[in-house]
Amino acid sequence: MTAKTAEPMDLTPQEHPETPAPQAPAGASDAPAVAARDALLDKFDIDELQNCMHCGFCLPACPTYRQTGLETYSPRGRIALMKGVAQEKLSLDAEFEKNMYACLGCRACETACPSGVAYGKLIETAREVVEDNKKRLDKRSLTRRLVFKHMFPHPKRIRAFGTALWMAQASGLQKIADKTGLIRILPREMAEMQRAVDKVASPAKRKERPPTLRSEGEPVLKIGFFKGCIMDEMFFETNQATARLLSKAGCDVVFVEDQACCGALHAHSGEKSGAAGLAKRNIEAFERADVDFVVNNAGGCGAALKDYGHWFAHDPEWRDRAAAFVAKVRDANELLVELPPLTFHKPLNARVTYQDSCHLAHGQGVRNQPRQLIRSIPGVELAEMSHPDSCCGSAGIYNITNFDMSMDILDDKMEDVQRTKARIIVTANPGCLLQMREGIMRAGLQGQMEAMHIMDLLDRAL
Ligand code: SF4
Ligand code: SF4
Repeated sequence: MTAKTAEPMDLTPQEHPETPAPQAPAGASDAPAVAARDALLDKFDIDELQNCMHCGFCLPACPTYRQTGLETYSPRGRIALMKGVAQEKLSLDAEFEKNMYACLGCRACETACPSGVAYGKLIETAREVVEDNKKRLDKRSLTRRLVFKHMFPHPKRIRAFGTALWMAQASGLQKIADKTGLIRILPREMAEMQRAVDKVASPAKRKERPPTLRSEGEPVLKIGFFKGCIMDEMFFETNQATARLLSKAGCDVVFVEDQACCGALHAHSGEKSGAAGLAKRNIEAFERADVDFVVNNAGGCGAALKDYGHWFAHDPEWRDRAAAFVAKVRDANELLVELPPLTFHKPLNARVTYQDSCHLAHGQGVRNQPRQLIRSIPGVELAEMSHPDSCCGSAGIYNITNFDMSMDILDDKMEDVQRTKARIIVTANPGCLLQMREGIMRAGLQGQMEAMHIMDLLDRAL
């Protein structure tokens, strides 16, 4: 790691070699274009940007700053760039976009910030402005359009993707491609990451799932289970394990019909209107199901679901419905510690370490509950890393879009993991889980160490 001390920052752009010099706004003579650009820049919350007092307390917490030592790769530097763009002192250009997308969105800086700067919201807005500007100039890539418009909003297409993946695995095609080197036709980042994907459930197995899993005893709660889009395809068994744990703890677990992707990937990538459309579908679906709680097991999805209130804060039609929905959202860890304790029948006799999901720890403040559950398993010893809540480098699709930086962060993380001498890395988010598996392979620790979702660990001990 290359941590640097936090020097006070001079905000004049010419002091920062990576920061583009101020430019005259494009199309300044074109009144409609200027109005459109001004409307875009109005999206920045200047008051929130001004809350940053440039103290630099957030710098040591920031993984991208620790790796590079660059101010423009720090929270303070990014906020300064946003302020520069919002005040039209800097241009909304490719350099600004690069700096905004180099951020993991892990929100470790929020936890460290003494001024309570809501950095997560600021970075989402900055990316929204970048993307809206590209839409305005019609420069969005075809891949983005395909993924955000034609893939994630459509559950059937995600299901087809899961089925295709199962077929590739079941037919041995994935292994053959790996062994023969054929896998190298994929971009390097995807070829690398596909190694971490576990066996997915067959379509037949998925069809067997009943609409409701009944409580094992007298039900105390009716739970609406938020399955997640990719989560339910690639980690179907983890969802099943979570439902089993909840039903053993006294819940009727309803797999609510017509739910959609949470919208996190859209929101983190500046696609706010796509995110809002998905959120509305979820609010409606869970209202119809009339449940006590909306429960999920993926830190990234949970943080997005709990953010719906903020997404609709200025929408009188949806504001109250969003607030009512958010009031019911719980991570499975949060709920399980509140319910009657689970009875474990199989001691695991293992030393484990827990990798916080950024969006669970920094985004939702859920840190103690997973640790409490892990410690409740007979024979399990929890050995903490020095920085368990520092991002693993997964961060949604960051490990695809910023592969090298992501792997540097992961290699540092694996050094921290190895110092704990744990045999199992436990986490509570699918992206982190894949990344930790990749880390195990990169460190050559296959067979000595495994990575598991916390719900699978608990289920294994039942
Ligand atoms: S974001 Fe917070 S911690 Fe970081 S420089 Fe600004 S005020 Fe200080
Ligand atoms: S969200 Fe994470 S990567 Fe981004 S500025 Fe904050 S600490 Fe750094």
